[in-house]
Amino acid sequence: TSPKPAYKRILLKLSGEALMGDDAFGINRATIVRIVDEVTEVINLGVEVAIVIGGGNIFRGVAGGSVGMDRATADYMGMLATVMNSLALADAMNKTGLTARVMSAIAIDQVVEPYVRPKALQYLEEGKVVVFAAGTGNPFFTTDTAAALRGAEIGAEMVLKATKVDGVYSADPKKDPNATRYTEISFDDAIGQNLGIMDATAFALCRDQKLPIKVFSIFKNGALKRVVMGEDEGTLVHA
Ligand code: UDP
Repeated sequence: TSPKPAYKRILLKLSGEALMGDDAFGINRATIVRIVDEVTEVINLGVEVAIVIGGGNIFRGVAGGSVGMDRATADYMGMLATVMNSLALADAMNKTGLTARVMSAIAIDQVVEPYVRPKALQYLEEGKVVVFAAGTGNPFFTTDTAAALRGAEIGAEMVLKATKVDGVYSADPKKDPNATRYTEISFDDAIGQNLGIMDATAFALCRDQKLPIKVFSIFKNGALKRVVMGEDEGTLVHA
C-alpha cells in the first residue's frame, strides 16, 4: 500500500503575489496553472483542501497602497481584489479536472456564493476545493487572518503558509550563507525572535487555537505534496 498523507484537511494560504509569477502585477496564467498542478497532487492523495488567497497583486489597502484613501474603503477594495484572484484560481482548477467552489465573505451573490460554514464543510467532504474569497469580510484585517480564522472554523489540521522562501531561516538565506532552515519552531520562539511569519492577529489566532502553521514554498516542485505527506519540508510552527 502507498503511504498515507499525514493530514486529512488543510488550509492553504496563497498571497496575491504568488499569482503574479515574474510579472509586476496582476494574474499570470502559467503561474496559476503550476499552483493548480501542485494542489491536484494533494487532492489525488485524498486530502481535503481549502484555500485563502490574498489580493496584494491587485490592490493592498492595509499596507498603504492607497495613500490618502479612507482606510476602510481601501480595505474593501483589497477584499474585492481577492475575489478576482479567487475566480481566476477556481477557473483554472475547474479547467484541469478539479472541482472548485468560491465562497465570499462579502455578499456578491451574482458572482460567487456566500460563505456558509456547513456548506463549505460539505464541499470539502465531497472532495471539492473551497476557495475562500474576500478575506474575513472586515476591513483592518488581512488574508493571513482570514486563513487562520477559516482554518480554525473548518477544523483544518494545519495552515500552510506559502512564501517565496522554503521555510523559516535563522537569517536571511539570500544574505547569509550560514543561514539554516528551522525544521520546527514553537509559537513562543517565533514571537520572541520576531520572525514575522504572519501578521500578529493571524499568528495569535493560530497560537490560541493550537493550529500549527507550515511555512513552505509553493514554487518548489512537489513541496506541497511533501508537506502533506509529513516529510521534511518547510518549517512547522507549533504549540
Ligand atoms: N483585506 C481586508 N480584510 C481582510 C482581508 C483582506 O481588509 O479580512 C484587504 C486589505 O486591504 C489587504 C487586501 O485586502 O491589504 C489584500 O489582502 P492581503 O494584503 O492579505 O493580501 P496578500 O498580501 O496575501 O496578497
